[in-house]
Amino acid sequence: MTTDSTPAISPPAIFKQILKPGFLAFFLLTWIIANTSAADSKSPLIPIGAARVDITPDYPVRLSGYGSRTAWNDGVEQKLWARALVIGDKEPVVMVTVDSIAVPGSIAELAAKQLKDKFGISRARVVLAGTHSHNAPHPARDYLPTIFATSLSEEEWRAVDRYGQQMLQGIVQAVSMAIQKQKPCSLSWAQGSAGFAVNRRKVKNVASTQVDHALPLLAARDEKGEVVAMLVNYACHCTTLGAVNYVCGDWAGYASDGMEQDHEGAVGLVMIGCGADANPRDRGNGKLAVTKSHGTEIAREVQRLLGKKMIPLKALPEVKFQFVDLPLEAAPSRAEIEQTAATDKRSQRRHLAQRLLKKMDSGEALATTVSLPVQTWRFGNALAMVFLGGEVVVDYALKLKQIYGPDRLWVSAYCNDTPCYIPSVRILNEGGYEADFSMIYYAKPARFQPQVEPTLLKSITAMLPDNWQKQNK
Ligand SMILES: [Zn+2]
Repeated sequence: MTTDSTPAISPPAIFKQILKPGFLAFFLLTWIIANTSAADSKSPLIPIGAARVDITPDYPVRLSGYGSRTAWNDGVEQKLWARALVIGDKEPVVMVTVDSIAVPGSIAELAAKQLKDKFGISRARVVLAGTHSHNAPHPARDYLPTIFATSLSEEEWRAVDRYGQQMLQGIVQAVSMAIQKQKPCSLSWAQGSAGFAVNRRKVKNVASTQVDHALPLLAARDEKGEVVAMLVNYACHCTTLGAVNYVCGDWAGYASDGMEQDHEGAVGLVMIGCGADANPRDRGNGKLAVTKSHGTEIAREVQRLLGKKMIPLKALPEVKFQFVDLPLEAAPSRAEIEQTAATDKRSQRRHLAQRLLKKMDSGEALATTVSLPVQTWRFGNALAMVFLGGEVVVDYALKLKQIYGPDRLWVSAYCNDTPCYIPSVRILNEGGYEADFSMIYYAKPARFQPQVEPTLLKSITAMLPDNWQKQNK
């Protein structure tokens, strides 16, 4: 026997019920609730604004990222932008992403100071991230100083200085415009994925497989539900194009284009995760169609996530910022450096040795540590965002996700400075580009000590509270 407490209603009675005004109002209300996303219905409104400023050079520049390039750029394929997202009005947090190989520490600190002076925003509340496009201008004399086989000419260095100024002004202007455009918005996030990142390492014929395909999305919508800003993070080098010599934002630039075309007037910001040892699949010499397809893959996943129920973020994040000293091995002796400067076959190695000798001659000590900016934004128990400087390998993101769980953690690299690669103990043991040769491009006198990994992980976990760990969710 079954029981049913609902009284049976005959078909004509149903039509009579539907026609009653009270039933119609109830039906309309139910429809409105069902068609409003969870984020919109549950998030309090926060003043949020986003803007972008064109920072494409209209003069010859030297592109960064590949030491093999020897000439001025050959035209512009895609414009470059500084994009800003400003969340909150009294004590806002600011995210800036720049279509650039990096935002060097020297430019990041100047920008942060100007934002403090103009708008009273403290350093800890500002994130300055590069997309790591290898088709953007070299931005500063002190960034990747020994990437080129021979030093640039003075005319080329002056173009570097000019572009650095243009980037700095673009960053500050984008933030200023985003503040002016602020309006009440809801904020929410969701976790998606994209599949084109592949681990690029092969050492002694053993290929690494570690990869992080997570694509977290932070979205701001206005009172009408229109998307105002989208911020995504993906752990992959921005190098689908390869070493062609024209200006382009690479896959990150096309991902932003795709998001901004899907939502007219909105701003699509792209950050790069711990993808220092990941390259895009099927990359190569000027593959523009493949580059665009990688951008489209990101924009499509953003569209899918926006159509789903997203997790509301109800208040501004708690922010923390510090510089952490990461230990280097002892530098070679002066005799060894002199030998390298005189005889090494690799021109970058000779170039670095000459630079180190110059430093020693002027009485300057060689570096024993690398100072890395580490920053966190924690939105209650819903989401923690970790922003690391440097080219950070995937092991760090995977280990942090083991500690905190993958479903409420966001880990970005290339933030606030990119002083060099940040290898893990595994990669230091294996050797290869990310452990060794890349340190020459970044003008470091030696590789990292194995303590680099526990030192960095400890500094991050100290910035997120103990009770926030996975088991206590
Ligand atoms: Zn890189």
